[in-house]
Amino acid sequence: MKERKIPEPKPLFIERMNRLIPDTNDQKNYWKIVKTEPVNTIRVNTMKINSEELIKKLEDYKWKLIQPWKNYPEILIVEGKTPSEREREILINKNLAKLEPGELGRTLEHLLGYYYIQELSSMLPIMALNPKENEIFLDLCASPGSKTTQAGNVMKNTGTIIANEVSLGRMRILASNLERCGITNTIITRKDGRSFCRKIKEQKIYFDKILVDAPCSGEGTLRSSPKTFLMWNPKTIKALSRLQKELLKSAFMTLKIGGEIVYSTCTHAPEENEGVINFILNEFKDKIEILDFELPLKTRPGLTQWEGKEYDSRVKKTKRVYPQDNNTEGFFLAKFRRLG
Ligand code: SAM
Repeated sequence: MKERKIPEPKPLFIERMNRLIPDTNDQKNYWKIVKTEPVNTIRVNTMKINSEELIKKLEDYKWKLIQPWKNYPEILIVEGKTPSEREREILINKNLAKLEPGELGRTLEHLLGYYYIQELSSMLPIMALNPKENEIFLDLCASPGSKTTQAGNVMKNTGTIIANEVSLGRMRILASNLERCGITNTIITRKDGRSFCRKIKEQKIYFDKILVDAPCSGEGTLRSSPKTFLMWNPKTIKALSRLQKELLKSAFMTLKIGGEIVYSTCTHAPEENEGVINFILNEFKDKIEILDFELPLKTRPGLTQWEGKEYDSRVKKTKRVYPQDNNTEGFFLAKFRRLG
């Protein structure tokens, strides 16, 4: 994998990451992989086409596609394309050329909603939550809709999804993605997630499944968005941690007894991950249960301490996804069930 030139990370970020992954070999692998191009992945919209048919169509663009997971044939990696004479200078290896920026999104098949461009680790929250047909599902922070469209697919357009998003601009992108993908079981709302949950609770509406894919500092997305290195700052992490606690707490209020909730972020910062889970465990005590769950890639258990703070030992059941373990972006996931 070729390294590329990206902005230099801030010293405090380097220091924090090295504390999170203390092993020097692990650190070497992490700093190496975040400087490489991300892997291109797409998710087949199985309500419109099956994977084999789509692969045939996309091979006409000379793309090389693989199905990495037997149990998830709808997930495809686009490894690169057979180079034309003109593309010789963008070779990844001697057989394959890099896709051009935006190339994945410019095909007729994409326009028709046959596939959704989505990073592998971003597909994990819906795998963990596993929404079922005919359930009532809340996606509290939904835009641009990667996970709403994935849930709509898994639920085969049955049941009801409420996809909420606070930003009007981003809500428009969500609406256009839902329309493109033919997701018809979804109602879009534009509200701050905290006030949305208050209102919905007053109406006595309760959900079977909830996803809180929270706004976060994005430390895990350095490969696809190296600019994150420039914008990163510890004050934002503190403010986001407060918002994340409030969003997750509000979401719990609208969960059915026996219902399940997944909290996820695309960051490594413990304040936004285990810190939030620790807060929720303290807040709801025996009214919730933290659950173990299976994912089809390598994960590491949540941390039980960070910067002098001890977390509840149950946070070990949460999962950290590091880029160097699976050649993906970084991610964090936790799953709960409401008991009372
Ligand atoms: N789930 C989305 C997906 O898979 O495409 C990505 C969600 S992104 C990580 C977080 C989203 O939360 C952003 O679109 C952001 O605008 C939205 N957001 C930020 N603050 C919010 C709030 N208070 N209530 C609801 N949504 C919020």
